[in-house]
Amino acid sequence: MLKVLTVPAFEDNYLWLIHDGHNAAVVDPGDAQPILTALAEHGLTLVAILLTHHHADHSGGVPRLLQHAQVPVFGPAGENIATVTRPLVEGDIATIPELGLALSVLDVPGHTRGHIAYVATDRQWLFCGDTLFAGGCGRLFEGTPQQMCASLAKLAALPGSTQVYCAHEYTLSNLRFALAVEPGNAALVARIAREQARRAQGEPTVPSTIAVEQATNPFLRYREPAIIARLVAENLVDGEEPIAAFAALRAWKNTYR
Ligand code: ZN
Ligand code: FE
Repeated sequence: MLKVLTVPAFEDNYLWLIHDGHNAAVVDPGDAQPILTALAEHGLTLVAILLTHHHADHSGGVPRLLQHAQVPVFGPAGENIATVTRPLVEGDIATIPELGLALSVLDVPGHTRGHIAYVATDRQWLFCGDTLFAGGCGRLFEGTPQQMCASLAKLAALPGSTQVYCAHEYTLSNLRFALAVEPGNAALVARIAREQARRAQGEPTVPSTIAVEQATNPFLRYREPAIIARLVAENLVDGEEPIAAFAALRAWKNTYR
């Protein structure tokens, strides 16, 4: 029986420990200490490290973890990460025999050039780093709006019940922007109340699901007529071209306070 443990780090990062009560694989260990603490607390042995992209808040803890355990480091073939020993591209399967776990790899460029995501198809888990967030999406540091649209479309095509394990707790601020974009979305209004209650209890809002994201995340909904109309009203686009709408939405979010 595999479980996913939430390990908070820094201000708002989530590191994920996939474990069976004995062995564990970590996704995006930006910091080693919270992982070493969680491993000790739960009596777990680290058997693999999985990285989605090169940013330090996702990979910075790897060297120290490797001092404690010589384990394979899976990561994007398209990025220069010195510690990666198992470079992956879309179509590859990251196999962790100790956990009986096989993760399919998707190329999801946009936030960074070589960003990948991991899908446990049989368990309906998605580890998507900084590509899809609960209520939002990652900034376009290295990729184009077109690439990010294609990447998000791949994730949105997963089954609706897929659990979305993203790497940051940005949900409330994402949803505040989403409401400015789509004030008439009843599912969004309901979600905001739900997530605010979670945060008030000190609980994470992650994982969410693909179905919830489909219903409330403007970065999956940019083709909706109501969103296009809003962008036109804000003078951010002058037509209905989807990529332009997505780019305008992403740019608006960057400056939204
Ligand atoms: Zn990042
Ligand atoms: Fe990040």
